[in-house]
Amino acid sequence: MFLKPTYLIAGDVTDINIDELSRSGIKGLILDLDSTLVAPKSAQITQEARDWLDRARQRFQIAIASNNKNEAYLDLVRKDLSITIVGRAKKPSRRAFHRLMEEFGLQASEVAVIGDRPLTDIWGGQRAGMQTILVDTLKTMVEPEWKRSIRKLERIFIRTD
Ligand SMILES: [Mg+2]
Repeated sequence: MFLKPTYLIAGDVTDINIDELSRSGIKGLILDLDSTLVAPKSAQITQEARDWLDRARQRFQIAIASNNKNEAYLDLVRKDLSITIVGRAKKPSRRAFHRLMEEFGLQASEVAVIGDRPLTDIWGGQRAGMQTILVDTLKTMVEPEWKRSIRKLERIFIRTD
């Protein structure tokens, strides 16, 4: 099995060029939450990520699909960012992606899935027929070494040619 993200970003979510993405015909974004937009379990967003999200919202319909099951935690983020979040998304299941696509009123090809995990975010987005954008984990995040190793291993599945 190989995964081929539509875009491989050399950087985290804030390095995604909003103008370029908008010009490519994308109209909706489905973002992963933990490690992509906020440090896991922190529910805290950096000013840089907040600014990026604010700019992105002027161009795209945006929602979050997260495998996180902690509704109290997700509610903190929902309130802070005033954003739709589908929790327990069970990515790589396509269910949450399809549900949000219908809410957006868009075709799969007009939606991009953004996340840091190949086997959940990218595989799921690919299965849903959407464009996919693989980002690094937030640069402001400090992770234990074993977690970093798993992330590197997962990237073996990525095809860049
Ligand atoms: Mg993540």
